[in-house]
Parts: sequence; structure tokens; C-alpha cells
Amino acid sequence: MIHLDNLRYRYRSAASPALDGVSLDIGRGSIFGLLGPNGAGKTTLISLLAGLLTPQEGHIAIDSEPLAAWRDGQPAAIALVPQDYAFYPMLTVAENLDFFAGVQGLAAPERRRNCAEAIAFACLEAVVNRPAGELSGGLRRRLNLAIGLTGAPDVLLLDEPTVGVDPQSRHFLLQAVQRFAAAGHTVLYASHYMEEIEAVCAALAIMDAGQVLTSGTLAEVRRGKASALTVEMASSPPEALTAHWRARFPALEAAGNRFCFPDFAAAELAALLAELAAAGVALERMEYGAPNLEQAFMQLTQHALRD
Ligand code: ATP
Repeated sequence: MIHLDNLRYRYRSAASPALDGVSLDIGRGSIFGLLGPNGAGKTTLISLLAGLLTPQEGHIAIDSEPLAAWRDGQPAAIALVPQDYAFYPMLTVAENLDFFAGVQGLAAPERRRNCAEAIAFACLEAVVNRPAGELSGGLRRRLNLAIGLTGAPDVLLLDEPTVGVDPQSRHFLLQAVQRFAAAGHTVLYASHYMEEIEAVCAALAIMDAGQVLTSGTLAEVRRGKASALTVEMASSPPEALTAHWRARFPALEAAGNRFCFPDFAAAELAALLAELAAAGVALERMEYGAPNLEQAFMQLTQHALRD
């Protein structure tokens, strides 16, 4: 449905391009995840789709039509829910929704209907008369989402929509996004939370430095990456043993008594278990196999800090 072809964009003051030849295909009625470290180019890509920026090279097509032509016939059909709160804190929830529905040029009956639907969709009935600035983090995120829905869009661009919310609100927001896609709409979902992408996205792309490193279904993105081993022990292994592991596996990650070997050959498993037994360390949990999304992401993007 959405076809991105070789998109390039460089901000005027920037030394390197924010997008450097991005090509992707996003299917209708799906939630497509966009992952990448800070500065990867996710927001820039979303801004191009939202029409806030224009590609300097490359093309965007929706349903085989150039983006601008597709939007001309239906200006509210793509909505952006930005990272930052995009509402007026002194206005109530209902006033904010009415204002943003009005900005889209909707006639009064349609505006009222869309606002009522957005309120119901984001479960905001109990707070419609509260000033937005007084809402909790979870309710603010729900209002941000509801504002994005006031134009009854077909495509929703979500830029880290769950930052700063509790697990209950996160669960609600993820379910809401799934409901939206299940109704045949399309979602581009940028997030740093791998477990969210794993939970809701049919396909995803991992970006870094303005380029797509890999894209496909979750299984496709994980396939071909080195297997990972995670072991959790009942007590700390002796220093000498961890030093020995570090020498053999430079990418070893440790958190308390939990050790992750991102690139581990099955043939080494028996030797590692023997080492643990010899050191008298009891094993609590062990997981071996294809990397999860976070491990695949780290293998692809490496560990160097970006900012
Ligand atoms: P984050 O996860 O931190 O939100 P991102 O993946 O969304 O990052 P972008 O915000 O698209 O990345 O930024 C891509 C690159 O473009 C970065 O190097 C960033 O510093 C640069 N950039 C973004 N906005 C501007 C701007 N207005 N002017 C100059 N450079 C910019």
C-alpha cells in the first residue's frame, strides 16, 4: 500500500543525510514497526510521510499514486501522532479535540461525530471536561492518539506513542493500535521498545544512520543472525570463570547473575555447562536459539552510543 523508493533527505545544517536511500513497502491493514537507535532517521521518515518535509530524492506512493496526489483527494487520510504532546494544556480534552478536528476543515456534524468516536476509541469519556495540562502521562498519550484520529485517517503514523506511560496505559494503547489496524487501516509504528514491536507489528524495518539495515517479518529479521545463549545462575560465578568467558566471548553481556552470549555456537553448550558444574554454580534458567528482536537489533546496529 505504501511504497517508499530510495528516499534521501539532508537537513540544511547537517553534515550527513538523515535519510540515505530508504526503500520500503508497507502492506495495507498492517502495523509496520520502525526501529533504530537515536538519530537513525525514524522521525525524518515519518515527517516525509506526513507531508511535513519533502523528499530531496526518491518517491513515496500510496495505492500506486504519488503521495501528494493521494493526499489531495483526502487531506486527512494520513495522521501523525508525534513524540511530543501536541495539544493545548489550558484547553479541556473536548476543546482540544474540537479544535484539531476544526483545523482539518471538517463540517460541524462530521467534526462532532469524529470527536465522539475519538473519545470513545481512546476511552476519554471521564475526562472530557478536564484541562489537558492536568492529565496523567497515560491520559496525555491517549489524548495525543485521539487528536490524531479526529480526521478519521486511513494511515496513522505513530512516533514513540507510549513513552512515559505505565504498563496498563501501554497495554491499552497497543490494543487500541491493533484495533485500528484490524479495521483495515495502516499503521507505521516507530518505537525504541522492542517488546512492543514484537507484540504488535506484522513486519518491521531496522534503521541506522539513515539507512534500512534490514526489513521483513519478525522471523525474517531474526533469521540468519547468530544464535544467542542466555544463562541465569543462582549465585555469581567465580571471577576467574567470567574473565575466561569474556576472553572467549568479547560480546558477553552481564546483568547480575544473568549472562547473555550474543554469538554462541551450539557445540560450545556442553563445555559451558561443564564449567558451571565444576565451579559449583547452580543454573536457574537457560535459553538458547535464534536471537530475540533486541539481540538481533544489537547485532545489526552494534553497541556504540549514538548521542
Ligand atoms: P530518535 O530516536 O532520537 O527520535 P530518529 O531515529 O527519529 O531519532 P531523526 O530525528 O529523524 O532520528 O534524526 C535523523 C538525523 O537527522 C540525526 O542525525 C539528527 O541529528 C538529524 N536531524 C533531525 N532533525 C534535524 C534538524 N531539524 N536539523 C538538523 N539535523 C536534524
